[in-house]
Amino acid sequence: MVEDLAVQCSAKGCRAAAVWALHWNNPKLHAASYRKIWLACDQHRKTLGEFLDLRGFLREVTEFPPAD
Ligand SMILES: [Zn+2]
Repeated sequence: MVEDLAVQCSAKGCRAAAVWALHWNNPKLHAASYRKIWLACDQHRKTLGEFLDLRGFLREVTEFPPAD
């Protein structure tokens, strides 16, 4: 399930179109199979990814929209 699927970058104040989807999970809050998704533009893929990775939350980064 994907919630709050908007096409804009999730970074605060950024209105750029999202081209990446960062899938993450906080083990203290979420079931192991649950994925939260942040969308990111090229510029914020790194900063948002590092924010999640530092906390051990980042699980996967995929293209957005997904190539079918
Ligand atoms: Zn952005």
